[in-house]
Amino acid sequence: MKNIKDYDLEALKQEFVEIGEKPFRAEQVFKWIYDAKVTSFDEMTNLSLELREKLKKEYTMCNFNIIKKQESSDGTKKYLFDVLDGNAIETVLMSYHHGYSLCVSSQIGCKMGCKFCASTGIQFVRNLTSGEIVEQILAVERDNGIRISNVVFMGIGEPLNNYNNVVNAIRIINNPKGINIGARHISISTSGLVPGIYRLAEENIQCTLSISLHATTNEKRSEMMPVNNAFPIEQLIQACKDYIEKTNRRISFEYALAKDNNDNLEDAKRLIKLLKGMICHVNLIPINKIENGIYTKSSNENIIKFRDYLNEHGIVATIRRELGSDIDAACGQLRRKNLNNNKNS
Ligand code: SAH
Repeated sequence: MKNIKDYDLEALKQEFVEIGEKPFRAEQVFKWIYDAKVTSFDEMTNLSLELREKLKKEYTMCNFNIIKKQESSDGTKKYLFDVLDGNAIETVLMSYHHGYSLCVSSQIGCKMGCKFCASTGIQFVRNLTSGEIVEQILAVERDNGIRISNVVFMGIGEPLNNYNNVVNAIRIINNPKGINIGARHISISTSGLVPGIYRLAEENIQCTLSISLHATTNEKRSEMMPVNNAFPIEQLIQACKDYIEKTNRRISFEYALAKDNNDNLEDAKRLIKLLKGMICHVNLIPINKIENGIYTKSSNENIIKFRDYLNEHGIVATIRRELGSDIDAACGQLRRKNLNNNKNS
């Protein structure tokens, strides 16, 4: 069955014309889903009974069921959703003074194989559809009676590896008649798929781009992130420079500090050299140790030293607040769990 949440408004209007309905009916359906936030076609009472029956036969509303919900002592909530085909994904809700931020997954599993990430080593199953990305937001809003104000594509998966669905989802999330979250409140994080960065620069979307950099030499980065073999640091940084020139948008670089691995003064110096002159921001993440992982957190003292050194040399750097680590909801701790037999958990 087709998923009604896979369609942005224009696409839904076109779809309705194809099934012999007036485009304004698509507007009404969109309004029911994203404004009234209903979960069934039966509730769309300004549509004829006949049309509601027709929609019920052709489309699913794709309402996720919550398999499991864990709440951290800091208020962060981690959801395990049943995506209705036997698979499950994780989504994390974080609460900040400026509102609620949701960390969404873009794929079931991940192909990138980053050594420090818990999503690695589990089987890649498939891309999520746009509707399944959008539903993560709606399901969390329903469960908490809240409105999400920020969305980050930092859950499971590589968003630029599921390019079309992610960009279409962003259009639905950003559409004033859709979820209506400003593009500047939406971030895509990538491990560094250079062609995707160039493609994204051509889209007319003002979302924030985050680059998971994590190392300053090709040797070290390839060791941590196999994607670096295909797109080494020079190519990645050039793509970022071109992206900034084209979009005038600031890029955010993620740098997860691991003890005695990428956290010394020489790394800081190379990072400054790499990023010099770019409009950017560095997000330092104390690396979260994963089960059987080889990387451990840098000391707090060292992280502060690293940040201060960058700031003193003209690179704006902040330390990411750690949320939800007690429920395995912090950066890199998400992993797809198998709904049927938990064989990957
Ligand atoms: N595939 C995308 C988005 C998912 S990962 C990407 O690579 O950017 C989201 C962020 O968490 C990335 O910056 C990733 O490098 C970081 N991350 C992954 N594992 C981590 C860990 N164990 N500790 C800290 N950050 C981690």
